[in-house]
Amino acid sequence: MNENEADHETTEREDHDHEHPHSHEADDPDDLKSRTRALQSLLLEKGVISTEAVDEVLHLFEEEVGPMNGARVVTRAWSDPAFKERLLTDADAAIAEFDFEIGQQHVSVVENTPSTHNVVVCTLCSCYPWSLLGLPPTWYKSPQYRSRVVREPRAVLSEFGLDLDSDVDVSVWDSSSEVRYMVLPQPPEDVDDLEEDELVQRVTRDAMIGVERLGDDR
Ligand code: FE
Repeated sequence: MNENEADHETTEREDHDHEHPHSHEADDPDDLKSRTRALQSLLLEKGVISTEAVDEVLHLFEEEVGPMNGARVVTRAWSDPAFKERLLTDADAAIAEFDFEIGQQHVSVVENTPSTHNVVVCTLCSCYPWSLLGLPPTWYKSPQYRSRVVREPRAVLSEFGLDLDSDVDVSVWDSSSEVRYMVLPQPPEDVDDLEEDELVQRVTRDAMIGVERLGDDR
């Protein structure tokens, strides 16, 4: 965790000197929300955009961007070992093979195995791979989750209904403006019986954050 905390501090310091593409100010969801609302009413007032256009963009972000993109990436990794290797080595490059934009975010993908479990947090604010998972859930942004999942990950996961055996190692990954983590879950037991489209539907946002497991109930 120390390394990532250091990342945050570096970013904060840099922000004083120049515009950082992923400053934490811009990442604060509440701040972003109020700024977005202000911008929206201004644009509507000036007649630059219509409410229909705004609704369309919101719909795109909520329904189509995420977490569908992440689910497609996960599903391909399950069926294509070479892609999985590329994904775990250099996620940005591997995800660029898809037809959606990852933007300027740097993403790193960590793989669950039967004996290891990964869970993602942003301890400082709410850094999140938006291009893959869409909008972050409210609990992800809560101070309770952000502080507790680091200190007592098993207890927090248990509250999500995920009770891990004591022999499963838990790794907590602290996302930052520099790198945003996504979990590659274990496939469900019946992976071989399902078509790709069906598999995509089975990959949940929570599994890609790491508060749920799809395969081997532990
Ligand atoms: Fe953050």
